[in-house]
Amino acid sequence: MNQKNVRVRFAPSPTGPLHIGGVRTALYNYLFARKNNGTFILRIEDTDQTRFVAGAEKYILDAFRWCGISFDEGVEKGGKYGPYRQSERKEIYKDYARKLVENGRAYYAFDTAEELTSLRRRYEADKNTFVYNAFERKRLNNSLVLDEEETQRRLNSGVPYVIRFKMPEDELIRMEDIIRGDVVVNSRVLDDKILFKSDGMPTYHLANVVDDHLMEITHVIRGEEWLPSMPLHVLLYEAFGWKAPEFAHLPLLLKPDGKGKLSKRDGDKMGFPVFPLEWTDPKTGEKSRGYKEDGYFPEAFVNMLALLGWNPGDDRELFSLDELTKEFSLDRVGKSGARFDPEKAKWFNHQYMLKKSNHELATLFLPVLNEKGIMADIDFVEQVVGLVKDRAYFVRDLWLQSDFFFVAPDTFDPKAVKKRWKAESYDQIMELKELLAGLTDFSSENIESVVKQWINEKGYGMGMVMNAFRLVIVGALKGPHLFDIVALIGQEETLRRLEIGLHELGRKE
Ligand code: GLU
Repeated sequence: MNQKNVRVRFAPSPTGPLHIGGVRTALYNYLFARKNNGTFILRIEDTDQTRFVAGAEKYILDAFRWCGISFDEGVEKGGKYGPYRQSERKEIYKDYARKLVENGRAYYAFDTAEELTSLRRRYEADKNTFVYNAFERKRLNNSLVLDEEETQRRLNSGVPYVIRFKMPEDELIRMEDIIRGDVVVNSRVLDDKILFKSDGMPTYHLANVVDDHLMEITHVIRGEEWLPSMPLHVLLYEAFGWKAPEFAHLPLLLKPDGKGKLSKRDGDKMGFPVFPLEWTDPKTGEKSRGYKEDGYFPEAFVNMLALLGWNPGDDRELFSLDELTKEFSLDRVGKSGARFDPEKAKWFNHQYMLKKSNHELATLFLPVLNEKGIMADIDFVEQVVGLVKDRAYFVRDLWLQSDFFFVAPDTFDPKAVKKRWKAESYDQIMELKELLAGLTDFSSENIESVVKQWINEKGYGMGMVMNAFRLVIVGALKGPHLFDIVALIGQEETLRRLEIGLHELGRKE
């Protein structure tokens, strides 16, 4: 790694909610900056006014706040390279576009939308595709064809024009990508991209390159979908006489079956979110789910994303953001697409459930209980959570795993009753009730040893008594260690449930 000050940026266009692939791109930039004591910048690329979506920028900022990914410079934060919103830098770009016209690397084009459309149609009719490129431009309406006087006349007359890059006719463009290695493209296959539009705004390519230069970006780390833009960008740097940053194009996030790019549709179909936060489309009102609202911990979400494309070189999988910062390197980012696995995402959340203290989980679980009308003591909830957290993926699952700690069963699982409530059960549970009523030490260990001793002495079937006991206490054959349950709900409640159970289930003939 060279010694210059690392400066990287995440440069989203606020055209909707941020896909998790975008969050991963930002995460890798963040980690790269932290690892190299560099600077991480958030720049909003909003020059395409037709694609602007209200609320998208706020969404992006909220999403990163939730993930714990912070910026050193950028919108909201400020910094000496600002403004960081391209729409506020409008004035900057035109002069740069003109400079390229002056040094012969770009030209004015006056072709109207109608002219281009009719050309496209004509080509299509012949089963060809029209491309505005080094060959076609020689017979089109532009300053390469028109003489200087005519060009000037048109510019002065106020007719709409664009500025296009003059792609070299036939040149090998050699580039290097940190992840992909050497990339070579012949300029013949590239078109004369518009740099500056007739509405007075730059296109993505011009604004992106100019800003990366002015903001002294050292490394452009972005998604693979931008790889086709790299030759143009490299040529733009060269045309301006600027040193290009280093490039690293990250592998795509793939669908769970590995076939193609992960899309919102895959999420809808298979029931997982592809956005960090919930999003409501301001136009259609359509809602898309988010990891946050689905109950993911931000640490789990970030950990899961970090491993989609990067690996630590061994089989470790659990990393905090701090640990990632120490371990991350672009050398360990793969070339091939990373398959998204929704089950693995849940697994990560489960791992973070297990890592959390019972106190923290109880604090998160209390509001869920309150919603169900249950007011419980935090100490009690902590103990409950400690017993069931290894069975839950999300905080909301804790309820299903622990409802019987808070409310006595009002029904008994009929299948379990049929199988486990035997002819002897009534008398055995009656006896058990007497036994438990006489205990002064109602700790889990003591109950367990007394009950087991009693079962053995009487020669009862261990499984038979314990299943019937569980059925009466829980209402079903689920839950953690039964003696832990009864110790926690306490002697009085245990006896009460045994009483109700005996009454409800009765003597089986
Ligand atoms: N505005 C582009 C985007 O939306 C930025 C691509 C880049 O990082 O160069 O992803």
